[in-house]
Amino acid sequence: MYQRFRDRRIDRPARLRYQETFLRRDDFILPLFIVEGRGVTQTIPSMPGVLRFSADEAVEYIKPIINIGLHSVILFGVPGKKGLEQAWAENGLIQQSIPRLKDIYPQLEVMTDVCICSYSGDGQCHIGDNDRTCELIAKIAGSHAIVGADAVAPSDMMDGRVFHIRRELERIGKAGVPVISYAAKYASNFYGPFRDAAGSAPKHGDRKSYQMNPPNSAEALEEIRADIDEGAAQIIIKPALPYLDIVCRARTEFNIPLIAYNVSGEYAMIHALMEKGLAKEDIIYETLVSIKRAGANRIITYHTPWALEKLDVYQSL
Ligand SMILES: [Zn+2]
Repeated sequence: MYQRFRDRRIDRPARLRYQETFLRRDDFILPLFIVEGRGVTQTIPSMPGVLRFSADEAVEYIKPIINIGLHSVILFGVPGKKGLEQAWAENGLIQQSIPRLKDIYPQLEVMTDVCICSYSGDGQCHIGDNDRTCELIAKIAGSHAIVGADAVAPSDMMDGRVFHIRRELERIGKAGVPVISYAAKYASNFYGPFRDAAGSAPKHGDRKSYQMNPPNSAEALEEIRADIDEGAAQIIIKPALPYLDIVCRARTEFNIPLIAYNVSGEYAMIHALMEKGLAKEDIIYETLVSIKRAGANRIITYHTPWALEKLDVYQSL
């Protein structure tokens, strides 16, 4: 007597009946790179199919994607000229973009990436002193919340920034805006294409003194616990694929929504395989469902438009 596992896979209906993990439309968060100006659309050579937009073009671009089920976006500002004060200016790039999106799509969840690296001259996520940096980060987060951001997502990896942001949100009467913390963000080599896209590459050195050391996982749990204690409402783990063990451990350890960031290098790698004819687009579905299977509730991914268009092809009879 032996078990007939093959019966579960024998045809498509059988496979679907036994499928344990499904992707849903609201699992996906689309990153949007926002540039200054009007009517601007720019390609990003290192990320095929991904564009940078001025706010008016971003509004147009997402219209058909919203029609197929886009629920959430995360905004990254790519300012025309550097200057820290631009990061929290009332008429700053992101501060103007948030209401434009919310006015037209009130149901869309607009999250913002909160950091100084796209604005600072040296491309670092801090200004030297940890606590002083946290004050600036909190100021940026507050400036996003005040114009209608649905959530703020600090990505700097400074100690105590969730505490500082929560305190600032309370001070300005925006305590209801959740902080979605990049709690476990690793000093990864998979960020290269993003830095092209966001113009945020460090001018000197690297980010190893604040982003996490790739061999560590127990430490990721400590980082996540600290951010939850400081008031984070959701947690981001970044990158996704090389760190699915962290997603899995965090899932077991914490009862909090987990978001995995399927980063630019992971995206470019998959596209390189497809361009070389070494993989079919099924590889995208496999990638995304593996992130969900590991325990992520949601996925920030450049594959979002593809996923929303193709989900039914993979998940229905
Ligand atoms: Zn940064």
